[in-house]
Amino acid sequence: MHSTTLGYAAQAAHTPLAPYRFERREPGPHDVQIEIQYCGVCHSDLHTARDEWHNTVYPAVPGHEIIGRVTAVGAHVSKFSIGQTVGVGCMVDSCQACPSCDEGLEQYCENGFTGTYNSEEKETGGITYGGYSSQIVVNENFVLRVPDSLDPAAAAPLLCAGITTYSPLRHWKVGKGQKVGIVGLGGLGHMGVKIAHAMGAEVVLFTTSPDKVDDALRLGADEVVISRDEAQMAPHVGTFDFILNTVAAPHNLDMFLILLKREGTMTLVGAPATPHPSPEVFNLIMKRRHLAGSLIGGIEETQEMLDFCAAHGITSDIEMINIQDINAAYERMLKSDVKYRFVIDMASLKA
Ligand code: NAP
Ligand code: ZN
Repeated sequence: MHSTTLGYAAQAAHTPLAPYRFERREPGPHDVQIEIQYCGVCHSDLHTARDEWHNTVYPAVPGHEIIGRVTAVGAHVSKFSIGQTVGVGCMVDSCQACPSCDEGLEQYCENGFTGTYNSEEKETGGITYGGYSSQIVVNENFVLRVPDSLDPAAAAPLLCAGITTYSPLRHWKVGKGQKVGIVGLGGLGHMGVKIAHAMGAEVVLFTTSPDKVDDALRLGADEVVISRDEAQMAPHVGTFDFILNTVAAPHNLDMFLILLKREGTMTLVGAPATPHPSPEVFNLIMKRRHLAGSLIGGIEETQEMLDFCAAHGITSDIEMINIQDINAAYERMLKSDVKYRFVIDMASLKA
């Protein structure tokens, strides 16, 4: 048994996304079926739709910032009930048996997690299709509770942009008394500013877009630096405990590494299609600095992040679009022209 689903798919790397009809599995005993109401637009969706990471299987239905309402539950589902508002992020499955899964770090599953899109679906052997669609069926272990106090549309981006910034900020123990840099004010970056501020850190936002300065201050930055202006960068050399770099394009990492204190860490979450130029190794060894990476976050930590955001009144700043506008939205995202996350109103699919 299958159920027909309407979505938007990329059919090839250089053609626009267009309507696409496909089948999803009927919910099994441990599955939750979700009518999708909102889906955020992550830069990873664009990387995938255009095969920039050279691993896309077409047709590709992107979308991994999903908010919707439960429409059916399998016989053994205990955590969710019909009518509940829930979320789905970047993963829909993992092996649940390896040491990483045991520790709640499913994103580092040693047998490979199943991505919400462009992954092999264990149940069917097909390819997973993401949230640019009318409905999705997901194992209950990969479904999140969305606190009632969060606006559902503005909560959608928390499922990727929120957790991808929350997880490294937590892992590197960001908090009061620390000076923290966020590089890039896009979807991830603006969540990083809000969350690092809520964790009590002194937050400095680095941007290439002078028109974002006022917004960054409003979002919680204590200071904003135009990263292309050497005079603004110079006073910050050697002063940061931690820097979270969200930039989606290759760039010079040295200009940020030298801002770290001795033993400070810069964590990369941006995933550009081509490599950054290698940093100058002396910038690392002379001050025992760390250059690190981080991938989304585990399911338990994603729930913790949603609850943290509810407790601090944090959601994403969004611009709502219809699904028919998705190709134009991608072009604007490439120009860093989004304040600060596009969210698709999935009701528009029916138009
Ligand atoms: P986004 O909304 O497009 O934001 C990226 C920001 O980077 C832009 O707003 C811009 O900020 C800055 N930027 C862009 N091009 C730049 C350039 N050439 N030089 C310097 N700065 C530049 O993208 P996003 O959705 O936040 O995603 C960011 C990256 O993270 C993507 O590569 C995405 O695939 C990746 N990602 C990784 C994970 C993970 O788990 N590690 C999860 C989700 C996404 P300013 O205008 O402020 O300069
Ligand atoms: Zn994402």
